[in-house]
Amino acid sequence: MASHLAARSNEKAMNRREFLWLSSLAAVGFATGCATNPVTGKSQLMLVSEDQEIQIDRQYSPYQFSADYGTVQDKTLNDYVDRTGKNMTVRTHRTHMPYNFRVVNANYVNAYAFPGGSIACTRGILLSVDNEAELAALLGHELGHVNARHTAEQMSKGMLTQTVIGGLAAAVGTQGTFYGNIASQLGQIGAGALLASYSRDNERQADALGMEYMVQSGYSSQGMVGLMDMLQRMGKHQPSAIELMFATHPMSEERYQTAVQTAETKYKAAKTKPLYRERYMDHTAGLRARKNAIEEMQKGEEQMAKQNFAAADPHLRKALKLAPDDYTALVMMSKSQLVQKKWAVGRQYAEMAQQVYPQEAQAYHLSGFAKVQLKDYDEALEEFNRYDQMLAGNPNSYFFKGYCYEGMQQYPQAGREYQRYLQVVSQGEYASHAYRRVREWQAKGYL
Ligand SMILES: [Zn+2]
Repeated sequence: MASHLAARSNEKAMNRREFLWLSSLAAVGFATGCATNPVTGKSQLMLVSEDQEIQIDRQYSPYQFSADYGTVQDKTLNDYVDRTGKNMTVRTHRTHMPYNFRVVNANYVNAYAFPGGSIACTRGILLSVDNEAELAALLGHELGHVNARHTAEQMSKGMLTQTVIGGLAAAVGTQGTFYGNIASQLGQIGAGALLASYSRDNERQADALGMEYMVQSGYSSQGMVGLMDMLQRMGKHQPSAIELMFATHPMSEERYQTAVQTAETKYKAAKTKPLYRERYMDHTAGLRARKNAIEEMQKGEEQMAKQNFAAADPHLRKALKLAPDDYTALVMMSKSQLVQKKWAVGRQYAEMAQQVYPQEAQAYHLSGFAKVQLKDYDEALEEFNRYDQMLAGNPNSYFFKGYCYEGMQQYPQAGREYQRYLQVVSQGEYASHAYRRVREWQAKGYL
């Protein structure tokens, strides 16, 4: 719905080269000029081409999906959401875009879109959605952002650059202490910053387009009304659960009223069209079976966000009792243990997470981190290498690989990794450690 993602939940760092490249998009304007907006037909300032939108999407979306604990392993659920979204794309203004829809394992309440058409919703929000028409409204809203080219528009105006710069500065400023503030190490800025800067007008337009697409696809207009009603009620009773989503969009009342009005006027004829509630319930049965576990994780997350890690543990333990194979719960438990410097237990949970979801990268990073702390350098190195194969380009991996080589006294290899790290990150405790070592080894002739 919104795409106002939590920098704190993002595991990946955007590296400096990517960041500079991104800023240059808006600043230098390699593809200057105006383009016709696919939705309005009006000419607008557009510095980002469609190919670039797709490229940005491909480059950043994997980071965000992994930070959100990956795509759900429940194939029935994921295929259903993908199908529901794809069925609507024929009604959009950019039918040729490479759309894909997924449910991610994160528990917070949100949905978001990348500019090339990669769209995700969390299992947290799907638990609160009541029928397929509401799901269509949710995905339709995100399709609206992609079709009206809101991310590209914000980049062209230079708005996004500001956000990215602000976010990066914050990430560098909070970079953790050398021995173990994994919370901030994993909480660095990710792709989410790309998405967090829609204007209020963008949101209104995405709502209008979302409703158009879902009604034209045969759903009742009440789907949008129901969705807005749900979000508004959640905002009143569980503000923490949707805090992220509304962080930049305090307009749920207006959006709800607009949906009610539009359903009564423009789309009055579609009011009695189906909601497909049963179909939604059938396909989300597996997810709803996990509802209690997810609610415990949400409580744990709330504590972790307040840095109350010891208070998070009982909730995470309860969640794992209810759903022992839950990747998100295992990863969260691992993080919580590592922050509390319980390295061996943290490693155990990370390894369990790897077992239940071997294709997902985040647990390898945690496992590697735990093994570094336990001085199992060769095993740690293996973990970081596997992580890199799955999700390349995280500068923290360069640093830790360097640190592993250093632990094994393989200085030329260590120096090479530290130099790679320094090409991307120039400030903070990791950078000064890497810099000191590189200088020292250069002086000794190792490099
Ligand atoms: Zn939005």
